[in-house]
Amino acid sequence: MGKTLLNVEDLVVAFSMYRGDTLKKENLEVIHSLSLDVKEGEILAVVGSSGSGKSILASAVLDLLPKNAIVSGRITYDGKPLSMKTTPDLYGKEISFIPQSVDYLDPLMKVGKQVQGVKGSKARQEELFKKYRLGKDTEKKYPFQLSGGMARRVLISGAVMGNPKLIIADEPTPGLDLELAMETLKHFRTLADQGTGILMITHDIDLALNVADRIAVFYAGTIVEIASTQDFLSGRDALRHQYTKALYDALPQNGFKPIPGAQPYAGSLPSGCLFADRCPYRDDACAGEQPEREVRGGKVRCAHAT
Ligand code: SF4
Repeated sequence: MGKTLLNVEDLVVAFSMYRGDTLKKENLEVIHSLSLDVKEGEILAVVGSSGSGKSILASAVLDLLPKNAIVSGRITYDGKPLSMKTTPDLYGKEISFIPQSVDYLDPLMKVGKQVQGVKGSKARQEELFKKYRLGKDTEKKYPFQLSGGMARRVLISGAVMGNPKLIIADEPTPGLDLELAMETLKHFRTLADQGTGILMITHDIDLALNVADRIAVFYAGTIVEIASTQDFLSGRDALRHQYTKALYDALPQNGFKPIPGAQPYAGSLPSGCLFADRCPYRDDACAGEQPEREVRGGKVRCAHAT
């Protein structure tokens, strides 16, 4: 694995919002002290349940957060601070984005032209459409003429058009059948093997385990564990956090055991371990803040992980 491309350190994101039906504003913190890094040639999958705020991480990295967002922490690319102000040229070139919503496509432009971009090559677009099994006539279509799966493949083609060094993929596979989802992920793997770093945000841990090098487990607005994919394949004892172990037990191949309880709401988080309400092993040591620490080559926020 090569040098670090993306580094996110102690990221905090809050939204300034009106409280209930009053005119008073409050800051709702949705990302708490989140740290991760993506190296050249690796796929880091950020895995967590749908609706838990993972996409906010992608928006923060891409500097796409709305105006009422209050952000602190450090986001660097290749060692330099990353933002629309300081490094606008990186976005869409060295760093590309596969969004969760197909609404990112321009409804008034034929998709072939959209994928080619301003200076893109038609030959490369045709090559990518072929690779993603988009028929020859697709390039002349408008987004409304595509199925959800086709639109997603067009988005993926657009993201890899310029041979980016870092790809941020936010739920890249919904709308694709299993075969095509696996094929897309295999293509990500090929890109990574050629040196691209990929941050893949997904709710589908099973799919992620097929291609990712490391898995960052997202829970209630932060990363509670970063483990190698090999740790997941080795079994629950190789994992460190109780939520990760519960996720492992909930996989179909491990008996589909549900995780009791629900993730805490951003506005009413517990003061200590965010998973404490659902953890059978909680004790007094879990009541304080759980800083990230290294355990067996991975990272974890749990007082009792060894
Ligand atoms: S810190 Fe405590 S409550 Fe949280 S996962 Fe670890 S053992 Fe469970």
